[in-house]
Amino acid sequence: MKKKITIAYGDGIGPEIMDATLNILNAAGAQLEYDVIEIGEKVYLQGISAGIKPEAWDSLRTNKVFLKSPITTPQGKGYKSLNVTTRKSLGLFANVRPCVAYHPYVDTMFPDLDLVIVRENEEDLYAGIEHRQTNDVYQCLKLVSRPGCEKIVRYAFEYARAYGRKKVTCMSKDNIMKLTDGLFHKIFDEIGAEYPDIQKEHHIIDIGSALIADTPERFDVIVTLNLYGDIISDIAAQVAGSVGLGGSANIGERCAMFEAIHGSAPDIAGKNIANPSGLINSAIMMLVHIGQNDIAEKIQNAWLRTLEDGIHTGDIYKDVISKVRAGTKEFAQAVMDRLGQKPQKFAVSTLGSGGSKTLQLQKFVRKKEKKQVLGVDVFLQWDAGSANDLGLKLEQLNGDGLKLKMISNRGVKVYPEGLPETFCTDHWRCRFVADTFNAENPDDLSSVKDVTHQQIVSLLNRVTASGLDFVKIETLCAFDGVKCYSLGQGE
Ligand code: NAD
Repeated sequence: MKKKITIAYGDGIGPEIMDATLNILNAAGAQLEYDVIEIGEKVYLQGISAGIKPEAWDSLRTNKVFLKSPITTPQGKGYKSLNVTTRKSLGLFANVRPCVAYHPYVDTMFPDLDLVIVRENEEDLYAGIEHRQTNDVYQCLKLVSRPGCEKIVRYAFEYARAYGRKKVTCMSKDNIMKLTDGLFHKIFDEIGAEYPDIQKEHHIIDIGSALIADTPERFDVIVTLNLYGDIISDIAAQVAGSVGLGGSANIGERCAMFEAIHGSAPDIAGKNIANPSGLINSAIMMLVHIGQNDIAEKIQNAWLRTLEDGIHTGDIYKDVISKVRAGTKEFAQAVMDRLGQKPQKFAVSTLGSGGSKTLQLQKFVRKKEKKQVLGVDVFLQWDAGSANDLGLKLEQLNGDGLKLKMISNRGVKVYPEGLPETFCTDHWRCRFVADTFNAENPDDLSSVKDVTHQQIVSLLNRVTASGLDFVKIETLCAFDGVKCYSLGQGE
């Protein structure tokens, strides 16, 4: 039975590397049929801001597997990233990027590098919710959810098991973002406990990135949040020396998309010099995903053998080791000529022995926790004086069960008892809390009466009546008796 997949030729070098890849797939006996959709520059320039025609979604949703060439995103405002749209619309929550050194055929300082980055693909700062809030201040919302973390962390552990990997490293910045990144790390510890056969470790993302640049061989599978994953996957690809060779998979519960990590390289388009290896490696990942492992293994072995035989496209060609400077078509032909052969220096591919690697993930079960509202942060735009002036003005608005606890500016407490040295913008967070807090023990919430929406609305009315301009509010909540909001620095 042939599996129908959706393909897109993309822009720039896209058509050349797609032709090369399809020729190899067909020659290797992949059981595939192709449904071609149009994406990218031509579609953008027809005025479709998403870069994909509405009818193309039917093909993607029916076939559920997408092999995509890179596209060119036109310069200028108003064009939405097709990659972000596809990932989010199809729920492709995991971005999987293997980074491997192909020493000595591709230059690298780390011949033993062989790691996989599993990046969360839908949340974090990439939710794309941004606002200008005041004259001085802009905001981007970082959203991290329990279902999102559970899915990606479990995927990383399942991936490690399925591919015989020994260790999973979590990277986060939970020393600073204790709630969002803290949740990611906590879920890594919770789910990791279910995988006693796999080593686990956590690094703060800054030192973690430095270690990838310095000693990447120490890593095996890395799981991390969206923004950090975006950055470290480029660092890892760069130190592997193989930016042009890397493939990636975007995996969802229903659909998956496979693409090279490089772009459309318009500077070399149409010249038959592009290296098709990134898309070939993506296609190998796709074959494993759909259970055609024997074909994946055959192509991977032939591709490794081609590198070993010194048949190299211009981007990796070196006089000392290369034998033939191959064009895109000639390189693909060399891979086809070697189907059935095995590499002699690189490890022989074992993808064929593993069976389908479509990973089964558990459904998220929501545990309802008791929510208590303890107060409200009211954010103001204000530039009419000092923090003390604002504090004294706001103290006048205490009442109806709420009282001012503190004011912070860019997260630093500036009232009461702020420092005159702290620079203040026109964006103030004014924290009002229930007046029923236990002053002796503020963590004891048993005496705190829930703050109602009505109390918050009437506080906002008092704020407005006093001539102040609020730009947003955030309620201060506890879940199951634990306060879930950050303190101001110095609070
Ligand atoms: P790029 O990856 O296209 O090119 C960077 C450099 O690497 C260029 O010198 C190019 O010639 C070279 N290169 C890239 N792939 C190569 C290959 N397979 N063989 C040989 N050399 C190769 O990055 P860019 O120039 O920053 O972006 C060009 C366009 O691609 C932009 O419009 C960008 O938005 C788009 N882009 C698309 C994707 C995607 O569709 N997934 C990803 C990245 C960039």
